[in-house]
Amino acid sequence: MLKIYNTASRKKEAFTPLNPDCVTMYTCGMTVYSFTHIGHLKSYLTSDVIHRYLMLKGYRVRQVMNVTDVGHHLSDADEGEDKLEVRAKSENVTPWDIARRYERLFFTAIEEMNIVKPEIVARASEHVPDMIDLIKKLEENGYTYMTGVGLTYDTAKFKDYARFAGLDLDNQKAGFRVDVDDDRRAPWDFALWITNKPNHIMKWNSPWGVGYPGWHIECSAMSRKYLGEQIDIHTGGIDHVKIHHTNEIAQAEGASGKKFVNYWVHTEFLNVDGAKMSKSLGNLYTPEDLKARGYSPLALRYMLLKSDYKKPMDFTWASLHNAQNELVKLWRFFEAAAHVLPGKIDESYREKFSAAMDDSFNTPNALTVLSELIGDKSVDMPAKLATAHYFDRVFGLDLENAGYALSRLEEFQQIDPYDKQKAELLLGGRDAARKEKNWAEADRIRNEIDRLGFVIVDAPTGSFVRVKTYGKAGSVSTGL
Ligand SMILES: [Zn+2]
Repeated sequence: MLKIYNTASRKKEAFTPLNPDCVTMYTCGMTVYSFTHIGHLKSYLTSDVIHRYLMLKGYRVRQVMNVTDVGHHLSDADEGEDKLEVRAKSENVTPWDIARRYERLFFTAIEEMNIVKPEIVARASEHVPDMIDLIKKLEENGYTYMTGVGLTYDTAKFKDYARFAGLDLDNQKAGFRVDVDDDRRAPWDFALWITNKPNHIMKWNSPWGVGYPGWHIECSAMSRKYLGEQIDIHTGGIDHVKIHHTNEIAQAEGASGKKFVNYWVHTEFLNVDGAKMSKSLGNLYTPEDLKARGYSPLALRYMLLKSDYKKPMDFTWASLHNAQNELVKLWRFFEAAAHVLPGKIDESYREKFSAAMDDSFNTPNALTVLSELIGDKSVDMPAKLATAHYFDRVFGLDLENAGYALSRLEEFQQIDPYDKQKAELLLGGRDAARKEKNWAEADRIRNEIDRLGFVIVDAPTGSFVRVKTYGKAGSVSTGL
């Protein structure tokens, strides 16, 4: 029985979907004004693992993800300018140029990490009528008032406003700037529709004047449109609890009068070298930074799977290096067994795997089950393969196609393709020497291949060469 740790109750709860055939899931997407960094990817990996595991358990999963291309200000609490427009002005291009560029990069990044693209991806700028609809409903229900900024949500009318995040509103005042909008009734009241920025490039007509939507309303409007008023699972980064998700609940429940989300799943922070990731520290690594240093996006995936999403994790180059080496070992094991046909799944290992995953998606424990399986001499290779492939429907580590995964990894290494060609030619000479039982010559050739930076893999179906070491952790210490 699957249990999910629910942020709303701070407890693990048995999972029962609203509709037994199809689980509904909403994932807060990217604000597409800059590169995706590895902290974002940690959070999207959690959603992916949940999606994949529910599929493995036989559910259909309808997942929606938004793309924020309008309305997200420099601070989550409405202050400052629209992030996209700031970027567009600084590059002298349109906000649409910025949005489409970073949206493309984002989906490339998640694809390279084998993160399943949600069934429905929705851009905020293409759902403004749905947002206006929802805001009208909130207005009818008495949750809004006008300020100099625009139409504002009156949090005092939503009696449970503080509950979800456990906010202590009396002592919270200090955390909110109050000078942004002096006529707000409470510092944490937030904008639904912004009308006081006439120079904003993206703008629409609305019953409250020409303007654009606040950031929070898009998620409530899109989940309502595609998934209905109530959904099973909502995922996002832990930093969204206090403002963004608190406001999503206020909007959705203020409009429908029903409980919005049954299971809230939040991913804890990724720190870098013991410090919080930030632009000023220069430690916001992107997938391209990793590849430039010889690390595969799947090594990042493996590294993140080794830690529990509910706990903060510390990224270091050394830990990524170790993770990649472990993954390479796994791939080599499966590559060497590529000629074996998978047999039947080993039931006792399947049960151990399910027990780990049922415990609120405990991937570190599930990976331990995989390594136990590989080392277990009492399980024959066909059963090992079938069972590992079954696990990999959640892990997403390309275990079934390990040879190809290794070849892909070689693309990120600083190797001269001619050296590989040379090593392959030498290998033919070694095979000939071995046939003639000329062991000295065979050894000499092996050493020469080694000097070129390759190892010989002697598989039952023949020998081939692979890159000897991957990545270069020791030589790297700084970020962008
Ligand atoms: Zn959201």
